[in-house]
Order: sequence, then structure tokens, then C-alpha cells
Amino acid sequence: MTDTTAPLRLFNSLTRQVEEFHPVHQGEARVYTCGPTVYNYPHIGNMRAYVFADTLGRVLSFKGYRLTHVINITDVGHLTDDADAGEDKMEKMAAAKAQSIWDIAKHYTEAYWADVKALNIRQPAHWSIATDYVPQMIEFAKSIAEAHCYELESGLYFDTSTVADYGRLARAATEEGEGRIEAVEGKRHAADFAIWRKTPPGEKRQMEWDSPWGRGAPGWHLECSVMSRELLGLPFDIHTGGIDHREIHHPNEIAQNQAITGCGSLDCAEHSGARMWMHNNFLIDRTGKMSKSSGEFLRLQTIIDRGFHPLAYRMLCLQAHYRSELEFSWDNLAAALTRLKKMLLGISRNSGNRAVLKDLMDRFDNAISNDLGTPAALPIFEEAIWSDSLSTVKYMDQVMGLDLANLNRADLRIRPKSATLTEAEIEAALDKRAEARAAKDFATSDAIRDDLIAKGVEVMDGDPLRWEWKLDLA
Ligand code: AMP
Ligand code: ZN
Repeated sequence: MTDTTAPLRLFNSLTRQVEEFHPVHQGEARVYTCGPTVYNYPHIGNMRAYVFADTLGRVLSFKGYRLTHVINITDVGHLTDDADAGEDKMEKMAAAKAQSIWDIAKHYTEAYWADVKALNIRQPAHWSIATDYVPQMIEFAKSIAEAHCYELESGLYFDTSTVADYGRLARAATEEGEGRIEAVEGKRHAADFAIWRKTPPGEKRQMEWDSPWGRGAPGWHLECSVMSRELLGLPFDIHTGGIDHREIHHPNEIAQNQAITGCGSLDCAEHSGARMWMHNNFLIDRTGKMSKSSGEFLRLQTIIDRGFHPLAYRMLCLQAHYRSELEFSWDNLAAALTRLKKMLLGISRNSGNRAVLKDLMDRFDNAISNDLGTPAALPIFEEAIWSDSLSTVKYMDQVMGLDLANLNRADLRIRPKSATLTEAEIEAALDKRAEARAAKDFATSDAIRDDLIAKGVEVMDGDPLRWEWKLDLA
């Protein structure tokens, strides 16, 4: 550990200000991140949310806090609309695929974990699975039911007028909520939301539990209040998610937290359950926000199949501030890959002779402590790479998570799935070419090169890497 003296300042969506981080528990940082709903593959926009949460966790560790990070897996309760309209996302996918919900959840959870690993996102202390906490959710609901909820035929609803400052976190005006009143007959206020959804008479759901309000399933918002309280204790330090969660899901979590703790107004941020609420902005493409429900979307695997190393996507995320929108394009991704490749070139030329460079560390510390300023930190990281001090690079990469110590330039080669030659064949052809050149047989050597070029291989004379696939971004 080196000295990190810059105060850590983070943007708190609840107060809409950059604030200095002061932990609830001395020397510790407890963070809860809303995880994926595992009814489908995560798209790269979702993964931006986890690169952001991981960067936050890495910065907290770098600043010397003992981190406890929880990410949940939503395998129950999330409807196709974040308000209470539509079908259960998990039930819908299970029916479409004629599989059990448990199999669907397992498959997509594993796919998500593979992306987490590929992006060098650190493992949290707990992956909390919503269905493991249903008894605790029922207990939670029981203790707030009388003072804060009302029962309708369709379920138990939270009355948002029973807590002070409902919706303070949200930016959108309540018109959005107005539309929600149609969705459930009998709701007292547009923003009221389901704590428990009863299974309609005569129906059977794949996932349902007994409760004081009949057989059914928990409302989506309940799980995060319950699991964060169980695993981190209220109040904890930081709650994260994408900005869509700032509008409905997190205001509802906050209302539940206020209800369970008996805290009134949000004048003290702790009454919300977490001292700070942090949100990453969207990854968009030219057609707008990426979303799973729209059907077509880009997965990390799509990027890998095009031949990109997944850490090029992490680099793309780090190049933008987490609170800015980030536009995805193949050109932007290619530029991020090139930047990563240059870093590795720098590492290969770094003799590692010098000790940790204090001036660079201080500047880096200032950049990342300023609301996770990764775009400003990257050029300082690059200076360190070209500085001959590998120990400085190592410290900084604990924050950036680009795994430079374990990558080499060949790992970053473009590897299109559509490649017509194996790497061994290319290497063998280049060995033959070297022999031909040594024998001054230039006709053969040129023919080999031309054949490789025709098959999409770029031959790089004088570079120890020797060759690279040509990137086809058309
Ligand atoms: P979901 O699986 O839909 O619950 O979303 C998982 C996480 O991804 C949540 O934190 C969302 O806020 C976040 N998210 C959804 N779409 C995007 C996007 N296009 N860009 C960045 N984050 C997103
Ligand atoms: Zn959540």
C-alpha cells in the first residue's frame, strides 16, 4: 500500500452533490450493487454497470478501506415493466423456452459470471440470490405491513404516502408514475408498488411461496432492501445501479428502508438505508439506449466473436466518466483496443528498474479520488507505463483492472471467429517465409506473404509479434 492522501469524493444521487466519503464503520466500506435479472444474457450496457461498481470497489480498496461488496442475482419478481405492469420476466422466458425457471436462472447466471470474469471484475464478498431470501422477505413485509401497506386482490402494496420525501432520488417528474395507476386496480397512489404479488386464483406459477397474503411471489423491490440489510446492515455506505434504477427501483427500496427502520424524512441521507446512492449512465448506440427487452442486443460474447479481447471493452468503459453517456461503436472499441495494445508495448519496453514514483501516484490518486475520474487517470497510468517503474504500474492497475501483468501482446490479437487459418498455420507459414528469405528465395517469400494477406493476415516485419488479423469493421 502506498499513501493515498487525496480525500475520496463521490457524487451522491440522493443529495445531487459530490461529497467526501466517510464510512459508516471505521476503515470499512460496504457496498451493494443491484445485479442482473437472469432471464436473458446481459448486454454490454448492463456490464458497464458492473465495471463501474467494480471500479468503485477497487478505488475503495486502493484507498485502504476493507471492502464488503454484495451483488445480487434477481431470479424472481421482476416484471416486464419496472412498475407493476406486465408479466414476470423469468416466467415469460421459461414459458417461451419450455424450460424450468430454475434452469433458465442457472444458465443466465453462469453466462453473466463468465462476462464478469472476462472483464476482470473482482468477485464480490457475496453473490446474493433473491430466491434464497424469500423467508426473510416475508418477515420484512410482515413487519412493515400494518403501518405502510394495504392489501388488494392482486397483492400487498406499499403506500408511498406513509414515508416522507418519497421519490426524492428520482429525477423524472411523477407524470411517469401517473401511467402506472392503470396497471393495478385499486392502488391508492400511482407510485405505490407491490411488496407481494398473489398468484391469481386458478393459476399456478413455477415460483411461488406461501405467505400471510396467500400464495405468491415477492415484489421485485423487496429483495434488495432485504438482502442489503441482511448482509451489510442498515445504514451501509454505498448503493449502486444504472440510472434507470434511480427512477423507480431505488426510490422504492428507500421507502421500504425508511419503513423498516422507522426513519422519517431523508434530511439525513442515512435514513435511505445507504449513505450514498451512485448511478452509472447508459451505454448507448446510434439507435439509443441498449436494452434487453428490445430483443436484439450486443453481448460481450458478440464482441469476442468479432475477435476483440474483452478487456478492450473494459478500456472503453474506463475512457468515459461513469456519469456520462457512452456511445458504443465498433470504431470506438477498436480505438480502445489500440490503446490497450500500446500500453502492453510500453510494458514490454519497461525495464522495471525504478521504485514507485510518488509524483505520478499522487496525480493518479487525485484523479481517481475525484468521483472516480478514470478518463483523467488513464493518461497518468500511461505515463507510468512508459516510466520504467513497473511497481507504479502495478499499484495503478489495481484500480484500473486491465490485468496488464498477465496479458501479453499476443493475447490482444484480433481473433475473429470467422478466421480461415489457425494461429499455428500462420506461424508455420511465417517460419517458411523466414527460411525462404534466408535462402534469398524472394519469390517464395512474397508468395507466402501475399497468400496470408489475401486471407486477412497482416504481416508485420520487424515486430516480434510478426502478424495480426486485419480488423474488418464493415
Ligand atoms: P437488469 O438486468 O435489467 O436489472 O440491469 C442490470 C443493470 O444494468 C442495472 O444496474 C441497470 O441499471 C443497468 N443497465 C441497463 N441498461 C443499461 C445501459 N444501456 N447502460 C448501462 N447500464 C445499463
Ligand atoms: Zn436492486
